[in-house]
Amino acid sequence: MSALPIHHLLVAIEALQAASVATETVRRAGQGAGGEGLSAITKSDASPVTVADFASQAVVLHVLRSALGEVPMLGEESDGLLRDPANAAVLDAVVAAARAAFPELDARAVLDLLSIERADPTKEACWTLDPVDGTKGYLRGGQYAIALAWISAGRPQMGVMACPRLALDVDDPSLPVESGLLAFAVRGGGARWTSLDGGEVDDAAPLRTPTWTPGETVDLLLSAESAHGDGDAAEDLGRRAGPIGRAFRLDSASKYILLAHGRGNAYMRVPRITPGKPERKECVWDHAAGVLIAEEAGCMTADLDGAPLDFGVGATLANNRGLIAGPPALVRRIIGPG
Ligand code: AMP
Ligand code: MG
Repeated sequence: MSALPIHHLLVAIEALQAASVATETVRRAGQGAGGEGLSAITKSDASPVTVADFASQAVVLHVLRSALGEVPMLGEESDGLLRDPANAAVLDAVVAAARAAFPELDARAVLDLLSIERADPTKEACWTLDPVDGTKGYLRGGQYAIALAWISAGRPQMGVMACPRLALDVDDPSLPVESGLLAFAVRGGGARWTSLDGGEVDDAAPLRTPTWTPGETVDLLLSAESAHGDGDAAEDLGRRAGPIGRAFRLDSASKYILLAHGRGNAYMRVPRITPGKPERKECVWDHAAGVLIAEEAGCMTADLDGAPLDFGVGATLANNRGLIAGPPALVRRIIGPG
């Protein structure tokens, strides 16, 4: 099965609207006056995970399962840490956050929702979910995204992203707002966006990337975390196409939505090379939804060697080196022969 019925898109949108209720409830409680502050647990790969990540994944799975039954899911999080008695207080907080979206959920249901086996995209078409992408941004009160996509035949075929703190038409979109947006795309059907609070899917506006012509400046979209990519190398690559204009630095896959809207015109991830260490590969859940939304808005995507992005080899883009997305004329200049 490659294409999914439109019903699945509506379910996916409902799932992310509900998940953002959970993540925003946690954020507002943690950052508001009298809150205890947002805190993170460190996973075995040294990356942070919060109450919101777990609650968001549980809520998304709850919606998908309620509407569609058992679903193959390649999700970022799992139940392991929450089953550790040392994290009992975290589990309580996760359940409270999930209940902000669905009051019927309890600890047993949440653990069950999080205990799924990860789907293997080499074997089956599957959903992929990043329940809180840009966790470091989320903790800082910056941008973050919830990203859900359907992958089949090595490519994202449907993608939905909630960006609860993103506004498109502001001078500096890296600055968080209180009420964000939802973007979605189906392969061959274009990309659209609407407001996250009360936006109607039927009224969603098209996302179209403006054409880029040689001679124009190159406005970069880069990670806020310098460890997540070599920003200097990205600037050097961008200069192959033209003089660098603005550089927007913000967390999460929300960069794809800005790109699709024409705020910035080159999103690049250039892996930082640490001598003696293997190059880090990009995670499928970080990019599947955003790549499809950008492509459906008219962007070209590829890796830094010009190869198509291969979402069908596992949990990472193991066949690719880094990533670039932007208007085709610009991307071809950057990845074309030197
Ligand atoms: P961004 O905010 O664009 O940097 O994207 C956040 C994502 O970066 C996280 O979900 C991580 O999966 C990913 N990430 C974590 N460490 C690295 C790294 N060293 N290089 C590239 N990406 C990373
Ligand atoms: Mg992520």
